[in-house]
Amino acid sequence: MLDAKFFHSLDYQPNEAALKDKVILVTGAGDGIGRAAALSYAALGATVILLGKTVVKLEATYDAIVASGYPQPAIYPMDLLGANPDHHQEMADTIATQFGRLDGILHNASILGTLSPIDNQNIEEWYRVQQVNINAVFLMTRACLPVLMKAKSASVIFTSSGVGRQGRAYWGAYSVSKFATEAFMQILADELETNTNVRSNCINPGATRTKMRAKAYPGEDSQTLPTPEDIMPLYVYLMSDDSQSINGESLDAQA
Ligand code: NDP
Repeated sequence: MLDAKFFHSLDYQPNEAALKDKVILVTGAGDGIGRAAALSYAALGATVILLGKTVVKLEATYDAIVASGYPQPAIYPMDLLGANPDHHQEMADTIATQFGRLDGILHNASILGTLSPIDNQNIEEWYRVQQVNINAVFLMTRACLPVLMKAKSASVIFTSSGVGRQGRAYWGAYSVSKFATEAFMQILADELETNTNVRSNCINPGATRTKMRAKAYPGEDSQTLPTPEDIMPLYVYLMSDDSQSINGESLDAQA
């Protein structure tokens, strides 16, 4: 999917205030790619709202941001599996009250489920994967649209996967949730293309050294994989106003 016109985004060198004063919500900010993105955004001047399930992990990201002298973040603990539409609305209302606007969302939190053939797929687990990976993404985006509209220029980034573009045996629930993510991004980008300040794009991180990757490929030597920090240029580029003309695209974070 790498197109020449986006090539520079993989070695994007932002200026040090590229995200200054932006308010950015990051889901799954306590671990893996979400933690690295929260730190990268804060390093460039953003106030980051750290959303996730495990409070101690969010606190660790918070402490790392504060210790580095970046803008003070906020923590919003939320289990996306149990969150209902009212919880999402409450979260969006809190952002509106505290910050007045939202300049970006990185929808990053996801679960893998258990890889298995369809005839053996645990039904409850199928529901759980769809709830966290796509239903919560819909509920959160819908609730946040009014506060995103209040920003001068807002960027919504969704997280896809290779199996969100091409189905593969045994990746059932997760793969379906990522295809749905791609579709949701395209629909939103199309709906908001004209007369709004909100753009939407997907990132496919590619194989990255995290707990989720280790769960999917237990026999792999994780040291051979890029770290979350290595793939940050595209995450920063798409969140910054330098990518303002990009809407409705699905991009790879690795060449
Ligand atoms: P990790 O498993 O390392 O991190 C996932 C994050 O999502 C954690 O912070 C986790 O929080 C959070 N999360 C999971 N369930 C919930 C929930 N119910 N409520 C709130 N937060 C939750 O995964 P990665 O960093 O690897 O994955 C990040 C994204 O990248 C995902 O969307 C994944 O699908 C995608 N991706 C990753 C690839 C890779 O190779 N790593 C490849 C392709 C796509 P907690 O730790 O508290 O559970």
